[in-house]
Amino acid sequence: MKGSEARKLFIDYFKKHNHRHVRSSSLVPSDDPTLLFTNAGMVQFKRTFIGEEKRDYSTAVTSQKCVRAGGKHNDLENVGYTARHHTFFEMLGNFSFGDYFKEKAIAFAWDLLTNGYGLPVDKLWISIYLDDDEAFEIWNKQIGVPEDRIVRLGEADNFWSMGDTGPCGPCTEIHIDRGERFGCDSPTCAVGCDCDRYLEIWNLVFMQFDRDESGTLTPLPNPCIDTGMGLERITSVIQGADTNYDTDLFTPIIGKVEELSGKKMTDSEETAIAMKVIADHTRSATFLISDGVMPSNEGRGYVLRRIMRRAIRYGRFIGLTEPFLHDTSRVVMTMMADAFPELKESEAFITNVIQNEEESFSVTLDNGLRLLEEALEEVNASDEKVLSGDVIFKLYDTYGFPVDIVRDIITDDAIVLDMDGFDKAMDAQREKSRSNITFTRTGEAFRKLSAEGVKTEFTGYAGLTGESKIL
Ligand code: ATP
Ligand code: MG
Ligand code: MG
Ligand code: MG
Repeated sequence: MKGSEARKLFIDYFKKHNHRHVRSSSLVPSDDPTLLFTNAGMVQFKRTFIGEEKRDYSTAVTSQKCVRAGGKHNDLENVGYTARHHTFFEMLGNFSFGDYFKEKAIAFAWDLLTNGYGLPVDKLWISIYLDDDEAFEIWNKQIGVPEDRIVRLGEADNFWSMGDTGPCGPCTEIHIDRGERFGCDSPTCAVGCDCDRYLEIWNLVFMQFDRDESGTLTPLPNPCIDTGMGLERITSVIQGADTNYDTDLFTPIIGKVEELSGKKMTDSEETAIAMKVIADHTRSATFLISDGVMPSNEGRGYVLRRIMRRAIRYGRFIGLTEPFLHDTSRVVMTMMADAFPELKESEAFITNVIQNEEESFSVTLDNGLRLLEEALEEVNASDEKVLSGDVIFKLYDTYGFPVDIVRDIITDDAIVLDMDGFDKAMDAQREKSRSNITFTRTGEAFRKLSAEGVKTEFTGYAGLTGESKIL
């Protein structure tokens, strides 16, 4: 079964059970300043859960675009290293707004996984929230999962929340045991372990509370259901792939990277990591730009810039010295346009934005890498294994290196990054440039100053490469 078929099977299943098929919302949450990016299927329904918004349906199904690269759910550093994490992924979900609750949600999920996708019943494990005896009874008595394959986990795993505030509740999760080969050395390796053996496939959240800033939980007007299953993960299970990157949702992108670099995913562990990062980050960049995020030096735009520059740096590592991200992005657009037609509409725009960012970063990347290499040689020769804040700041300020690129390159755990020194250098720079206002592309500061007759000089594509300076 192809990834696109796995998506369709999910949506058709819930449509057949009277769920309204709702389109994915944007990666940029509308009117929600508490959230950097849409990080789960429930985000577009947040106000419906808390009773502030009425919809003309009480159950829904979606395949939601998600990005987890900042805030409460941040998987940026996992990408390339685990089999299952992406920054951009699709979350398949069914929702009930005061309609069905635990019993039916569990029955649907089990039926679809075992009869629809045909997963082996004896490999499936269940986790429930500590004291949720009701969920235990349903799994054990009604579904027939043996007691020894139901585990009780605490808040970190089995109490779900979108962020620090908002709808939340206990959850139950379905995992598949992929066998010892995927396990780790820990003697306590079991469901909930960070390794890839017990792969978490599907989370069923029993939405019951709204959490406010003080942490107080207020019961929702109606108990609701919010579920999320990663399309890439279920596809990897169905296709018997070792990692999500070995499914047809990724192989064409990796194939392009192999073609452009002349290297193979199987060449070495490091090459594989680089290719996975590039494939993942291409998807994020493509979808973020398509949803209107532009690379910049702050907020969402800076996260996008970090993602793109990280991919470009990994590209250098496997010998990609020419801009390549716009090529891999085109592969993503071709693969995904059926499911997300908005990609087609902005194809040329996305390509342009990516190419511009690649070109502007390429100018400084090699010099920055050289500076870092020299600095690291000095660090290695000295007794104190500290990379100075001034160097990290220079890399950031002059060469456009986000700090995580520096972190990625330093594989030696003994070397410490002087982040206090970095912050001090940053403050000093801010102080110095206070009269010399730098702004990113949006209008406020610009409009105000130009209304006062202040002249500006065009220093490149302000919107595309970041910033222009007021003289
Ligand atoms: P994990 O423990 O593996 O990090 P999670 O518990 O953080 O996953 P949830 O917040 O429960 O994930 O999200 C619901 C589902 O979305 C998960 O069960 C998984 O199938 C999928 N998912 C979550 N994070 C990612 C990711 N970074 N990349 C791909 N799929 C993901
Ligand atoms: Mg996670
Ligand atoms: Mg989890
Ligand atoms: Mg989970």
